[in-house]
Amino acid sequence: MSGLGKGITTASIGRLLKNRGYEVTAVKIDPYLNIDAGTMNPAQHGEVFVLSDGAEVDLDLGNYERFLDINLKSIHNITTGKVYKSVIEKERRGDFLGTTVQIIPHITDEIRHCISRAAQEEIDGGRAAEICLVEVGGTVGDIESMPFLEAIRQMHGELSPQDMVLVHVTLVPVDAMGDLKTKPTQHSVKALRELGLQPDIIVGRSSEVIGPQTKRKISAFTDVPAKAVISAQSVPDIYQVPMELEKEGLAEVICNYLAIENREPDTEWYRLISQDYTNRVTVAIISKYGIEDVYISIKESLKHAGRALSTEVNIRWLDAEAFDHRDLADVDGILIPGGFGERGIEGKIQAIRYARENKRPFLGLCLGLQLGVVEYARHVLGIPDATSEEMGPGTHVITIIPDHENAPGLGGTMCLGDCTVTLREGTMIADLYGRTTTVERHRHRYEVNPEFISDLEDAGLTFTGFCGERVEVCELPDHPFYLATQFHPEFKSSPTNPSPPYIGFVAACKKNKISARAR
Ligand code: GLN
Repeated sequence: MSGLGKGITTASIGRLLKNRGYEVTAVKIDPYLNIDAGTMNPAQHGEVFVLSDGAEVDLDLGNYERFLDINLKSIHNITTGKVYKSVIEKERRGDFLGTTVQIIPHITDEIRHCISRAAQEEIDGGRAAEICLVEVGGTVGDIESMPFLEAIRQMHGELSPQDMVLVHVTLVPVDAMGDLKTKPTQHSVKALRELGLQPDIIVGRSSEVIGPQTKRKISAFTDVPAKAVISAQSVPDIYQVPMELEKEGLAEVICNYLAIENREPDTEWYRLISQDYTNRVTVAIISKYGIEDVYISIKESLKHAGRALSTEVNIRWLDAEAFDHRDLADVDGILIPGGFGERGIEGKIQAIRYARENKRPFLGLCLGLQLGVVEYARHVLGIPDATSEEMGPGTHVITIIPDHENAPGLGGTMCLGDCTVTLREGTMIADLYGRTTTVERHRHRYEVNPEFISDLEDAGLTFTGFCGERVEVCELPDHPFYLATQFHPEFKSSPTNPSPPYIGFVAACKKNKISARAR
């Protein structure tokens, strides 16, 4: 079922294999009819993650990238929409001339083709991976998942046994008496078997440790050896999951199935994740959604930067529509994330003003940069009706990017994916990166109106990063830490590679905390 942690389990398995020197890639299958996640409401579906090639994908691809330190592409997210679109286009071209086009074999063939193609794709310009993880989203028995599970069954039948291992992630709930219940696992394995799939490994997700007795019981009902029944107890930090699975001996079980050597693992990841924090800061994120999954990459990036600085970052989620500056009195930093539409923007603008005037660390991301510019134009430049074109009438200090005006719809038509940003030498952003160019990811339709750049600069806001002519970064020199980016640095942060703007922000929060004590 959704929300169980299949994505983290998949990413963690990848990490176990990567720690053993295997090259790993990952594919996510989403059984919905949307072509991609780009037009889906993040409040329902969670964050829309953006890949370097500009694909707007399921948030699990973000987990894969963070755990595996690789850059995935659009083809690594297979949706029912993409599969059907491709088959229908082939039908229109006449590729199937004479045949009746059907779910089996045409759709299942297409799914298998998509999986193989993604598996064989070179990773970051290098070789193709040795092992491909394929996560099938959804729940066994859902109508939507059927063609995918059928395609997997066909592949399983054709490949030699050591070329494919099936891992089934199940819920192992705890009843009112505190006992672990194996019934949901028994039933879902039964449902899988009806589809012709017998799992090789069961990963049981539970709030408690699944002990040997429960494992034996699951084993007896499912024919999965007790050694291959893995306890995946909830842990406070997702990056601990590989370590927990390591202790459970999952890597050995997988290597045995795949007939590959269970090499001595590199333990750097485990060392990194086990370090203790010596400091704590609180960061406010002002958002209109009220659910944290919308900003999972930001949350994780703060964690990555925090780890690098031995600082635990606590997040205070504040509702943009009920903004009250008193909620910011004791926070060490203020973060305004990306977003769309008018709802909640006035609260965010007030929060930025508070951060600017009270000299609190401020990090603005995408919409956060745009609202920072609006705030500055209103309260420093003296344009009271300054706003973004996205929000309606007023003086548009933020305008639509010219070639985006007449986009043929909303799906995949934003400025998306990698851009090379030039950072002005001697600025805070160039210092943070330690260089004068960086490649970061975009997801926006609007930009700083070039007509206002010089006025804003004269009034003290400095633009320190550009992609061509387009503003990418702004800073306020006369402030302890005021940084906003049009790009989304959070899409490229990982525990092993924390993002420089986030490092700068958390470091500034740490400093703020020290000076707050003095205040
Ligand atoms: N809505 C703004 C735009 O489209 C900002 C987008 C974002 O924050 N991702 O430009």
